[in-house]
Amino acid sequence: MTEATSLDALRQRWGAVLEVFKAPPPDPLLFRQRVRFVERNIGVWVKLVLAPVIYWYLFNPNAFGALSVPREDVLGYLRTFTLMMTAANIGAGILLWGMDEISTPFLERVVSAISLVDTAFLAAVTLFCGGFDSILYWVFLGLVIRNAAIIPRTEIQVLVNLFVCALYVLSGVLELRLTQVENQVLDSYTPHLESGLGSIDPATEPFESLMLRVLLLLLMTLVCLGLRILIDRQRQREAEAQEFALKQEQLEAAGRLAAEIAHQLKNPLGIINNAAYTLQKTVREGKTITQQISIIREEVARSDRIITDLMGYARLVEGRVERVTLPEIIDQALAVALPPGAGFDIRVHRDIPPALPVLLGQRGHFLEIFTNLFVNAREAMGTQGEIWISARPAPDYAVQVSVRDSGPGIPADVIGRIWESYFTTKDRGTGLGLTIVKHTSEMYGGRVRVESEAGKGATFTVTLPARTLMRLR
Ligand code: ADP
Repeated sequence: MTEATSLDALRQRWGAVLEVFKAPPPDPLLFRQRVRFVERNIGVWVKLVLAPVIYWYLFNPNAFGALSVPREDVLGYLRTFTLMMTAANIGAGILLWGMDEISTPFLERVVSAISLVDTAFLAAVTLFCGGFDSILYWVFLGLVIRNAAIIPRTEIQVLVNLFVCALYVLSGVLELRLTQVENQVLDSYTPHLESGLGSIDPATEPFESLMLRVLLLLLMTLVCLGLRILIDRQRQREAEAQEFALKQEQLEAAGRLAAEIAHQLKNPLGIINNAAYTLQKTVREGKTITQQISIIREEVARSDRIITDLMGYARLVEGRVERVTLPEIIDQALAVALPPGAGFDIRVHRDIPPALPVLLGQRGHFLEIFTNLFVNAREAMGTQGEIWISARPAPDYAVQVSVRDSGPGIPADVIGRIWESYFTTKDRGTGLGLTIVKHTSEMYGGRVRVESEAGKGATFTVTLPARTLMRLR
């Protein structure tokens, strides 16, 4: 028992440590801004300037006195490799130019691929420009920083940066090996130099500086990742603060308008109602008049109900905007719609991934949406059945939730009317549930739709934007 408790405590502590390194979910807008700046506005131009220099070296290696001149066959391979890299970069450049037209997941793949291609090319050049001691080592460091800036997903960023470290080591080791082979060939031709060259062991001499360089690369990978997480968290906090203020303001404005309309309409309606009542009392003998007055009173009562709804919106002014996660809202709504111990034999299947954007709004509103959908599903199925709840991130930083039931479905002649206020097919229904679901979703900039076939259950899909700012920009 105590062992289990200490294991739990250890797990919790480990979870808390991991939490520190957990990056906020990638922000597509920010990712695109960074790619546009780093890759399209800087990277492409740098490559355009470097390309002629590289080709000049490949076709006139003797013109670059300081650099080693590869053998002719090696030079041939290098040229082919450079041509392939150039083709890959031209393809990537075209994609970057039209990046507004391509989806974010695809752009993420393009960016990672560009990083890998650049690293491979840099490693090949480093092989002929001094290996471990090459000045190009600093470009490897630059690649690590660049990858940290543009690759949004932590795990991919770490993998790509480890690939950078590995290729630096590989190019250095290969360069050492080539030098060794060359020295051996030289030794065999000039035996009198043997004693002198044999005393230098190129494999051990640069070991310490190599270790330092590799360590620095790994450290840079870690520091850049940490910095990136910190910056992203700070940005997320700022964006959320702005979002909170905006949502609060929007809801308050809607609430004030509703309160004003409700107040202005309530008074005249009250007067009409009183007048009609008095009229009805006075003109008892005229049957037609009494009937018409009854109609007036019924309509007044109907308007009164609508205004009472409107006054519900007026409560928006009092509510508080908060961060709400979908799983907790679903739990709470299920507890209201299917209270444990109430005897419902209804199985609930959930498919809700943990990493969904957080919703910002009044908890009561989200609760109302899902409670109404679950109650409707329960009432449609009776005491037995199944409900499937699934959630997915949707484009533009939104969340899409589907609620499907195994009930009788909605007949074709009813489905067109279900969103109307006071439309109900139930003996004791109010006909307001779905109106509330629709109004509330739309108030948050979302939408709701239904799909159903008689006899095959009904699926209600609600889309709620997690951010308004994203859509306004
Ligand atoms: P109420 O539940 O008070 O009738 P609603 O606005 O919530 O009001 O629903 C309107 C109508 O839509 C219901 O009377 C019912 O006919 C239909 N409906 C809603 N949800 C479902 C569902 N899951 N399955 C079948 N019919 C449904």
